[in-house]
Amino acid sequence: MNYIGTLNTDLQTTSCGAIVQGLCADGGLFVPDRIPSLRPSYDAPYDYLSLAYDVISPYLATDLAPDELRHCLSVAYGNTFRQAAVTPVHTLSADTQILELFHGPSAAFKDVALQLLPQLMTASARQYGVDRDILILVATSGDTGKAALCGFADRPGTHICVFYPQDGVSTVQRLQMETQAGDNVHVAAVAGNFDDCQRAVKQVFAARGESDKVMLSSANSINWGRLVPQITYYYAAYRQLVDSGRIGRDEAVNVVVPTGNFGNILAAYYAKRMGLPIAKLICASNSNNVLTEFIDTGCYNANRAFYNTASPSMDILVSSNLERFLFHISGNDPEIVKHCMAALSTDRQYRITDDMCARMREMIWGGYASEDDTARAIRETHQAYGYCSDPHTAVGIHALKQYRTQTGDNRTAIVASTASPFKFCSSVLSALGLPVSEDERHNMDTLAGVAGRAPSVLSDVWDQPRRFDTRLHYDDVPAYVGRIVSDIK
Ligand SMILES: *Cc1c(COP(=O)(O)O)cnc(C)c1O
Repeated sequence: MNYIGTLNTDLQTTSCGAIVQGLCADGGLFVPDRIPSLRPSYDAPYDYLSLAYDVISPYLATDLAPDELRHCLSVAYGNTFRQAAVTPVHTLSADTQILELFHGPSAAFKDVALQLLPQLMTASARQYGVDRDILILVATSGDTGKAALCGFADRPGTHICVFYPQDGVSTVQRLQMETQAGDNVHVAAVAGNFDDCQRAVKQVFAARGESDKVMLSSANSINWGRLVPQITYYYAAYRQLVDSGRIGRDEAVNVVVPTGNFGNILAAYYAKRMGLPIAKLICASNSNNVLTEFIDTGCYNANRAFYNTASPSMDILVSSNLERFLFHISGNDPEIVKHCMAALSTDRQYRITDDMCARMREMIWGGYASEDDTARAIRETHQAYGYCSDPHTAVGIHALKQYRTQTGDNRTAIVASTASPFKFCSSVLSALGLPVSEDERHNMDTLAGVAGRAPSVLSDVWDQPRRFDTRLHYDDVPAYVGRIVSDIK
């Protein structure tokens, strides 16, 4: 299979090329030139690793040998997740199933992709003829940083450096990063907000050339190697539901995804296109509901107020992976995508054709949750089912309720649950009407009284040694990266 650019289909490369380059030379994104077929199979017993192999290998098989991919998968998922199913399904009620994606080393769904990406990246670099070490630079607003650190820590041939906004991440998120083990990891706080971090990283990318002794790369969600691992868990959820008799073989389900950069829901779209029986994709947003409006009207308009919400990983106005979706619903027409992306960068808005809009709305329904809706969903879900969800998952639960009320479609739905509630203790406690302390450690203990024991990867952060206390000004970032590079042997 080849990969082509969303802005220019003549830009062709292999899967390894797409993963090593991350982004097309013209700024477009790599997409597969065709989408393989894979119906669910029921013969062998459930096994996440073989499911992952069946889903991912058609996308990479022309470049990575079967044994090499199997090895990558077993390093990524063999014993890194706390549940044997890797992504277990929790039954909330007969028609509502929660797909728990947060049992990996950082307790967020990004682990599923970021445990595999480092393996794919080093294997691809070898295939692609890269003989230098790879230095991963990450600007994070919270969850990505820790998940990327866990994935790359002590991975031979790689180094990773994470920058986070000094006052922009939660206490637990900061401690998760500052306590990261590994000889090839670096963490620094940057004075300013997330945009300052991102600008600083971009500046380093722009300044360093091809001739460097390391190859710079990034771990963000526009890399194909981060998207493809996410398709697996929709198959895994479906198979678990069939095995437990909650749905019949080949029965269609709806899938609800709390969405920020449109990566997770795009993976569900690929699963649907591949032949997993998904009826409707439900795109759930918070008050930053630019996608809800887009799905309703066909007009994407990022000229709007930005809200800081209780579901911060979805506080996004420009969803980068939407570009891939536009390419597919345009019938692989790079001119249409180019036109939309140009309008987005000059006017911060664009409108898609009526044809595309019809095709989109056949597949996707969009809903959103205000801050009150989110808190109410946390409280009601806990009251009705004794289940504690994090605010991102609660946005999904609310959107599902909206969808059912408006359409009457009550078929079984899988709701992607993207984080452990223990990552957002104070928001969850306040939604439940419980006292919130200034002391996050105390909040974690209080929440444990309601929701059971916190995952040890989160409760351990209080006692582990803090390894990093670097504070940088925006202008100091390039010199800091320069010192890391010169220390690499
Ligand atoms: C990153 C993230 C999301 C958004 O995922 P996208 O793939 O960007 O849509 C949702 N919830 C949590 C907890 C996240 O960390």
